[in-house]
Amino acid sequence: MTSYDVLIIGGGHGGAQAAIALRQAGFTGSLAILGAEPHPPYERPPLSKEYLAGEKEFERLLIRPLGFWTERAVELLLGHKVTAIDPTAKTVTREDGAAFGYDTLIWATGGTPKRLSCAGFERVHTIRDRADVDRLLRELPAVKRVAVIGGGYIGLEAAAVLRKLGREVVLLEALDRVLSRVAGEPISRFYEAEHRAHGVDVRTGTGPDSIAPEGVKLGTGEILPADLIVAGIGIDAAIGPLAKAGAETGNGVHVDEFCRTSLADIYAIGDCAAHENKFAGGARIRLESVQNASDQANTVARAIMGAPAPYAATPWFWSNQYDLKLQTVGLCQGHDDLVVRGDPAARSFSVVYLKAGRVIALDCVNMVKDYVQGRKLIEAGAAPDKAALADATVPLKELLPS
Ligand SMILES: Cc1cc2nc3c(=O)[nH]c(=O)nc-3n(C[C@H](O)[C@H](O)[C@H](O)COP(=O)(O)OP(=O)(O)OC[C@H]3O[C@@H](n4cnc5c(N)ncnc54)[C@H](O)[C@@H]3O)c2cc1C
Repeated sequence: MTSYDVLIIGGGHGGAQAAIALRQAGFTGSLAILGAEPHPPYERPPLSKEYLAGEKEFERLLIRPLGFWTERAVELLLGHKVTAIDPTAKTVTREDGAAFGYDTLIWATGGTPKRLSCAGFERVHTIRDRADVDRLLRELPAVKRVAVIGGGYIGLEAAAVLRKLGREVVLLEALDRVLSRVAGEPISRFYEAEHRAHGVDVRTGTGPDSIAPEGVKLGTGEILPADLIVAGIGIDAAIGPLAKAGAETGNGVHVDEFCRTSLADIYAIGDCAAHENKFAGGARIRLESVQNASDQANTVARAIMGAPAPYAATPWFWSNQYDLKLQTVGLCQGHDDLVVRGDPAARSFSVVYLKAGRVIALDCVNMVKDYVQGRKLIEAGAAPDKAALADATVPLKELLPS
């Protein structure tokens, strides 16, 4: 049985960055990434953006060229899932029966898209990996009408691309506004209006009752005709083998500030790792972002190299829809007040979220300056005057405490 000093399970953003950071920090031990997908590590965000739009071919999504991994002696063991971990023997077993040993294990498996539970759900596409999008693209030439279920970032991005590709699109959101889990009402209403202006039939407060041969059937009996149905309704953390091995889990696998699980020598990072985050008031959360996967990978690399530093990175995120670039910094959950800077009608504005008077997050639409300067307000725990915050002619950097 082959054994590695560090074995990384999952070759996505977190897994790739863990290997990169270890080699950058001078790690000379044996190192492998064992990934379920047959591809070398690639960027996931373009899957609902440029890759779906046909504007970027797959090779341009690779996180590093193939040669990088061989040059750095990072072995890629691709195409099979890990199905079991033995934390006492320090081995993992794949679905094909092959077993590998480890000294240190990094679990970086991301998540699995939630599926609808209604009748006909088998017909519904999801967008999580390259195979999902390739499947969707194969069907697309024969498709005129698309139903998107879920008004989160992935659903909205897919809707924007599919409109651009000339398809009729209806978007269903179960709650009373899109993006309700991740953004304040001004952002939700702005994006609903944008999508409607681009011809998307946005319907909130409704969802599928079942999937009929001719489209999506609502609870009212109405059938929305659709040749293709895509759901973006969230993910479940991919932690089955870890849970079976006895790791502490909840919504994700529990990790401490160094991304250590409750099992000896097993770390977990990225979408699957439930950690206590100071930007969420210390609550245990999972973050689904490239920032979080990469920064947690760096945290683990430091810990393995004997220079541990607790994970405390400022969360940030982006979403591209039409010609709109949304940049988010901080976490807005738990805000008790908000301020809109600039005019949404001008398609360039920011929403600043406050809690007990302090800035905790910003959503910036085509407002790069606010994004850059607002981050400093969050990190400083600034409590600026609301009138000054609302005045878009006042640069945010001027509101930093002296
Ligand atoms: C369509 C889409 C658009 C997105 N857009 C943005 C964006 O604009 N901005 C942003 O910040 N974030 C975005 N994200 C989120 C971001 O891509 C994720 O947060 C990030 O990829 C998480 O990295 P990860 O390493 O935790 O998981 P992933 O990148 O998902 O990698 C996990 C890998 O592990 C593999 N795996 C799973 N189980 C096993 C197993 N048992 N054995 C072996 N391998 C396994 C998976 O196949 C996968 O390859 C987007 C995600 C998607 C799907």
